[in-house]
Amino acid sequence: MKTTEQHLKGQVALVTGASGGIGQAIAMQMAAAGARVVINYHSNDKGAQKTLSQIEKAGGSGLIIKADVAKEGEVTGMYAEIATKYKTIDILVNNAGIQQDNSIAAMTLAEWQAVINTNLTGSFLCAREAVKMFQKQGVAPRRSKSAGKIIFISSVHNVIPWAGHANYTASKGGETMLMKTLAQELAPQKIRVNSIAPGAIKTDINKKVWSDPKQNEQLLEMIPYGRMGEPEDIANLAVWLASDQADYITGTTIYADGGMTLYASFMHGG
Ligand code: NAD
Repeated sequence: MKTTEQHLKGQVALVTGASGGIGQAIAMQMAAAGARVVINYHSNDKGAQKTLSQIEKAGGSGLIIKADVAKEGEVTGMYAEIATKYKTIDILVNNAGIQQDNSIAAMTLAEWQAVINTNLTGSFLCAREAVKMFQKQGVAPRRSKSAGKIIFISSVHNVIPWAGHANYTASKGGETMLMKTLAQELAPQKIRVNSIAPGAIKTDINKKVWSDPKQNEQLLEMIPYGRMGEPEDIANLAVWLASDQADYITGTTIYADGGMTLYASFMHGG
């Protein structure tokens, strides 16, 4: 295993959209930290298998479940399968997300709904079912100080407007208030709810940008730290946020963005 610190030992983590990109890295790091991992995926069977085989190769264990997070029946079915296999979960990472970009005048209702349904409604459905499990189990001190943890994989675009991506920014902005409201509602029950807001992380979602030298250069100009993020940058943070080391943290968004939210254009003027 990569990490020797087993901060999540004995816990079960569900990671949505774990067949590639950030979700795959989070699943692997959570397993390395001792969690059994439920690898949710939508359509990439091979990617999900790769996540599991890498976890197993490193000495961990997990379970693959195919489900579209935007469909209520598939989400409740996934949780029923988890209940049978592991009884409960301790950690939910709402990572599954998509982009379908268009200018506002050209954006179809289908493009709007696809993104809202996956990114926002999917997060709601998965969180609702996780909370039911957390409430049922309460605090199990041998595993964690809290009854459960939810981590939303948000985006810097929960605060940075993004022309041509109204559906995406609305979904991420909405996710932020969903996260905060759940954090407020559930804190007395010792359930922690937080977000990680990544900047530009090198995955399939933005391959068009980083594989084009000119667009890549423009992107780097927006990142004071001078590099794109790697999925592991987010995964390491997710493990820490899920662990008892972060037990007093709830209702917060942590930006992991190489300074993208620092208004880089002001470095040379203003
Ligand atoms: P990705 O395209 O590599 O991964 C997205 C994952 O979500 C895939 O595994 C996909 O199969 C899954 N998914 C999509 N629709 C689904 C559905 N209906 N049900 C279940 N799974 C579904 O992209 P990524 O960069 O790894 O993105 C992961 C998350 O991080 C997303 O929420 C994204 O918005 C967010 N994010 C990414 C970046 C970045 O720069 N890569 C920046 C900010 C936020």
